[in-house]
Amino acid sequence: MSAPLLFKNRVMTPGPTDVPPEVLLEMAKPIIHHRTKEFQGIFQELSEGLSRLFRTSGPVLSIAGSGTTAFEAAQTSLVKPGTKALTIAGGKFGERWQDIYETYGVEQVQINVEWGKAVDLGAVEAALNEHSDISVITVVHSETSTATASDVKGIAELASKTDAILIVDGITAVGALPVEMDAWGIDALVTGSQKSMMLPPGLGFVGLGERAIARLGETDGIANYNLDLRKWLKSHANKDVPFTPPVGLVRGQNVALKIVERVGLENVWARTAKLAEATRVAFGAMGLKPASESPSDSVTGAYYPDGVSDGAFRAAVRDNHGMAIAGGQVGRNGDFKGKVFRVNHMGYVDAGDTLASLLAIETELIAAGVEIEAGTALAAAGGVLCG
Ligand SMILES: *Cc1c(COP(=O)(O)O)cnc(C)c1O
Repeated sequence: MSAPLLFKNRVMTPGPTDVPPEVLLEMAKPIIHHRTKEFQGIFQELSEGLSRLFRTSGPVLSIAGSGTTAFEAAQTSLVKPGTKALTIAGGKFGERWQDIYETYGVEQVQINVEWGKAVDLGAVEAALNEHSDISVITVVHSETSTATASDVKGIAELASKTDAILIVDGITAVGALPVEMDAWGIDALVTGSQKSMMLPPGLGFVGLGERAIARLGETDGIANYNLDLRKWLKSHANKDVPFTPPVGLVRGQNVALKIVERVGLENVWARTAKLAEATRVAFGAMGLKPASESPSDSVTGAYYPDGVSDGAFRAAVRDNHGMAIAGGQVGRNGDFKGKVFRVNHMGYVDAGDTLASLLAIETELIAAGVEIEAGTALAAAGGVLCG
């Protein structure tokens, strides 16, 4: 093979994702103490920016940890002991939220959807009608493991007619896909720093609506210390956090949010959607079968053609093109391991990165013996991106 054309390193996995240079530089600033006016100012700015990003007039809490920490905090703080949780899963992450309630011994009504499909609203409505003692619902907006988007707006509408609090995993949705926390009536919206937020891993975020705040006032949730959202909410009102925050990440997130505001959130959504569309069209032109019947715009997954080995293919993409892409995962109710690969469209990604990913993928599929006319993917993507 001739020398590869790509020689920059690119992280094109659906988390962690690339971080803009301005954010990296901000995080390199000398450490400051967090119990100071200076930190309070930075934290206040971050909190206001997060509320705008979440499209809520309510608070968004910033919790040290990964997305899982923030989601576990919402799950344990908002469930009423002695009631049931309706847990919707169609992939690895939905199954994780089921595992967490299992760990705490919370009784569940599970809706398990075939991997690659979105949950049917009728099934959610039926479960809510059948069990009047459901106090929380968990759902994943963009199931990253299967590259699938669900109708969170529809589920929020159903939840709002009941006493159940809806906790949405927005970890690859907020800042990538249109999500309207207040307008849709989402009670608790969670995300993490290393996917669409353009930050390294280490911060989780929980937005709380009025019903969720009321719930925190009327129940102790499940016994917990660090993850008790009542502590975080109380501190938040004083522009503060209960425990030592990752100051560098807080600073960096502020700068990343300013980049989003400079571009405009709607424009970020539109760019993400365009890059996803270009990728789907290019994959289709190469004859690849999509991993999802209800594709998310933040990540695209496709099945490997027969005869292509996941390990060898992704190693070739990495070694020959400096590019990290993701493989498939395996869970309780599905198995995409070795069968699909996934490419990111969230955050600090542009058309150049997307075209580079398609060049690498097409080159290595051809090298693996797949019959594709050279240039097919790039021409197809170009048709979308130039239009
Ligand atoms: C990455 C991811 C998670 C887990 O987040 P961590 O930061 O790894 O804990 C949960 N849900 C979705 C949809 C994700 O993409």
